[in-house]
Amino acid sequence: MMQPHFLPWHTEVARDWLGNKDRFAHAWLIHGLAGIGKREFAFAAAASLLCEAPLQGLACGQCPACGWIARGNHPDLKRIRPEAVAAEEGAELGAEEDGSASDEAIVEAGGSSKRAPSKDIRVEQIRSLEPWFNNATHRGGWRVALIYPAEALTTISGNTLLKVLEEPPPSTIFLLVADAPDRLLPTLLSRCRRLPLSTPSLDIAQQWLEGKGVKKANEWLAAAGGAPLLAQHQSESEQSPCPDWIIELLASLEQGRIPDLSNLADKLAKSSPKVWLDACQRLAIDLNLSAHGLACRYYPGQHKQLSAIGKHGGTLQFAQLATWLNEQKRVAGHPLNAKLFAQAVMQRLSQACQIKLSGYK
Ligand SMILES: [Zn+2]
Repeated sequence: MMQPHFLPWHTEVARDWLGNKDRFAHAWLIHGLAGIGKREFAFAAAASLLCEAPLQGLACGQCPACGWIARGNHPDLKRIRPEAVAAEEGAELGAEEDGSASDEAIVEAGGSSKRAPSKDIRVEQIRSLEPWFNNATHRGGWRVALIYPAEALTTISGNTLLKVLEEPPPSTIFLLVADAPDRLLPTLLSRCRRLPLSTPSLDIAQQWLEGKGVKKANEWLAAAGGAPLLAQHQSESEQSPCPDWIIELLASLEQGRIPDLSNLADKLAKSSPKVWLDACQRLAIDLNLSAHGLACRYYPGQHKQLSAIGKHGGTLQFAQLATWLNEQKRVAGHPLNAKLFAQAVMQRLSQACQIKLSGYK
């Protein structure tokens, strides 16, 4: 049983937002930094919209509607997400959700299919909603479609959704969730009201993480750019707040040695480019701060090495590196060859540091 809740740092904005339901827009884009709890917000919002006895606008957790939400089978709620995300959620919830992750996305994949789960929201998923839109809602209230991550909409599925939003079905609220709204179709964006969600203050985030039993909460939080759910996730799946490959890379660079690029690339190619490119960007920012003689922002545990590498040169090199990494992130979704791509990035990163190193050797 999983009753969705607003995270403490989002409760107030939720209350303000849901407290004004008379002129509620039919499509919302919920956006903000990755790992701050946008999906949790959207779920809790859906629960609050469907709750039959809300308390100050928020779900009561007691009524029949809240019960169905908790069991994942409210007929007026649909989750539209890529198969890959549905599979991840199924794995995270384990037996608890009792196979309810096998909803539309998985069913469409077909039991015998052996292909990798799709990372896109496919047009069939949007089209299959039509009968749902055309019937009256089961409980005579709202019906809520949660679409996440909205960046997973393709041009075709995005345009199909756009047509739906242009002539919205009655009593229906669409909640789209996105880290990067600039990657959505502008026409789709123009049909949504925006609800930006903020990142909690460091104090609140640290307190929350410590409450979850995370040790060195401040370091995990720094490495996650202040996003508490990302920090929690990384603390469960990684050995230390600073990724191993960064520790290895810095050890070589500090000694003026050329890092083992192939070995590093092998490690990186196993995870998503988006994840390790984020870490590269954080590293570039920390190197730049160190070059200015300032404290690191993301990897305070590596302060000594970073300042050794950073203080021996100008800052232009690191600023250029940050810009270059930003460009790579745009193409990172589908690199043709994950290892070659990782190796190219490691090489560029090392060059930025090596040039500085050669200056003081
Ligand atoms: Zn309720």
